[in-house]
Amino acid sequence: MRRVTRILVAIVPVWFFAASLLAQDLGPHVRKIKEGIYIYAARETDSNCGIILTQEGVVLIDSGRRPPDSHNILSVVQKLTSLPIRFLINTEPHVDHTIGHFVFSPPASIIAHEGATESMRQAYNPERNQERMAESPEMRKAFEGYRLITPHIEYREKMTLHLGEKVIELLHLKNVHSEADTAIWLPQERVVFSAATVGVKRFPNIRPFVTIPDILAAIKMMKALNPEIVVPGHGSPGTTQIFDEMERYYALLLERVGKMVGEGKSLEQIKQELRMPEYDDWVARERFPTNIEAAYRAVSSH
Ligand SMILES: [Zn+2]
Repeated sequence: MRRVTRILVAIVPVWFFAASLLAQDLGPHVRKIKEGIYIYAARETDSNCGIILTQEGVVLIDSGRRPPDSHNILSVVQKLTSLPIRFLINTEPHVDHTIGHFVFSPPASIIAHEGATESMRQAYNPERNQERMAESPEMRKAFEGYRLITPHIEYREKMTLHLGEKVIELLHLKNVHSEADTAIWLPQERVVFSAATVGVKRFPNIRPFVTIPDILAAIKMMKALNPEIVVPGHGSPGTTQIFDEMERYYALLLERVGKMVGEGKSLEQIKQELRMPEYDDWVARERFPTNIEAAYRAVSSH
């Protein structure tokens, strides 16, 4: 009898908790991926914002693609908890992940890898914001109070946050996308936010300082964590299959570019001739030439 009671005591609060969350309307853009971990993205290809609830407050991961998203995220947080947003971690400094900082800070302290502040300052473009505001009265309103907020804390290589019951590890990703990329790993929940190291059915935008060997090393590092859920910078969360698919893509790309280099073809010829029909359903095809350039650099460097 006592055993049955113990089991009921263990089960009932969990059920009530789940039921109370289901009763809340968090809107169509929010996905619960684990207890206390939510993802917001208005469209599937938008940057993902992570919402992590702890007993000591909220940790956000990135601040929304555009200010209207940031305001939506704030109202989702307010539906979930009355606790403040304590920290906002940037997976990368680009504007579609950081433009909404002013909505959350203060009170949130912003954390990013070394190099993020410099990158955000360099990219800051007030005229571009004026153009965005001119799009609609709603956009103008969402920009009210806008100011550029760069990270308050820049870490180097690794940082661990202990907030309430949650452990949140920040891991530097070298040369995978921007000047300052961070993976966020929750070892207890086995969730990794992989930043833009990987995408979902989407060609990456590979800048000249990004290297495919560095991307592959970052994927290997994150796979070794043995995550249950992978949340890419953009695209639907999934499993480590997201990593596997990107590894296959780069392996095939390196193989084909390597073969053409071996045949004595120039970068220009390769750009004209190389076909990857396996990836015809991927979006952002205009970025494919940057992928060929990166593969060319990789196969030519040894
Ligand atoms: Zn980016």
